[in-house]
Amino acid sequence: MDVRFQHSPCDVSKVKSVQFGILSPEEIRQISVALIEHGETTEKGKPKVGGLSDPRLGTTERKLKCETCMASMAECPGHFGHLELAKPMFHIGFIKTVLTILRCVCFNCSKILANKDDIRFKQALKIRNPKNRLRRIYDVCKGKRICYITDETGGPEEEDVIEFAKKKKGGCGAQQPNITIDGMKIIAEYKISKKKNDNNQEQQINLENTEKKQLLTAEKVLNVLKRITNEDSQRLGFNPEYVRPDWMILQTLPIPPLATRPAVMMNTSNKSESLREGWKL
Ligand SMILES: [Zn+2]
Ligand SMILES: [Zn+2]
Repeated sequence: MDVRFQHSPCDVSKVKSVQFGILSPEEIRQISVALIEHGETTEKGKPKVGGLSDPRLGTTERKLKCETCMASMAECPGHFGHLELAKPMFHIGFIKTVLTILRCVCFNCSKILANKDDIRFKQALKIRNPKNRLRRIYDVCKGKRICYITDETGGPEEEDVIEFAKKKKGGCGAQQPNITIDGMKIIAEYKISKKKNDNNQEQQINLENTEKKQLLTAEKVLNVLKRITNEDSQRLGFNPEYVRPDWMILQTLPIPPLATRPAVMMNTSNKSESLREGWKL
């Protein structure tokens, strides 16, 4: 073992088990030692407080001590900070999973669209592998255009749809948009169906929205995902203890410790701060 790392003043824990998951915005705040609010790294030649090189995140300079654990560069393990995003954002690694979930739940009430009595849904729930279970639930839910209406057991007439949904299955009866993805954009499109009413006039029934096509903001998607119950999260393959669907939308960013992104000394006066320069772009 490298002699430099034999001692650390920080509390150490023993590893009992390893569990993968996604950090919730709340957990990111809890592990953070500093709220980062500024893009600048230094002020008057020193690491700027609240900047990307906040001295509480650790130090990469021999002459400075970490302001969280007061240890030197060799001893401080580094500490995470966090940044609050002004608006929620899609995460490029999760956007496809988010799309799959959106297609499985009601756009209005966030309940799973499958009919709970559907034999295919019941079979899907028995699958223990969460990823495969989501895939099968998706197969049952895709193409559902109304919240909680069966497609093969001869659903109700169109005008009874809302009442039927409320009475029979507890769904909200809302029309579902067709949701597609284009790069980092998620688009919802409503099919506007036409029917004749009593006066024989053509009337548009568009239960949810008069806009035919709309770009879904991460904020809107976040609201749909947040309303998914823990029980439905579990059914969809997400153990809510370790990951909830809404945690896949970025709201809070962890800022890694300085030690994991050290500046490269180019010469005596210049540092190459690639990660930090990238930040400014
Ligand atoms: Zn430290
Ligand atoms: Zn609904």
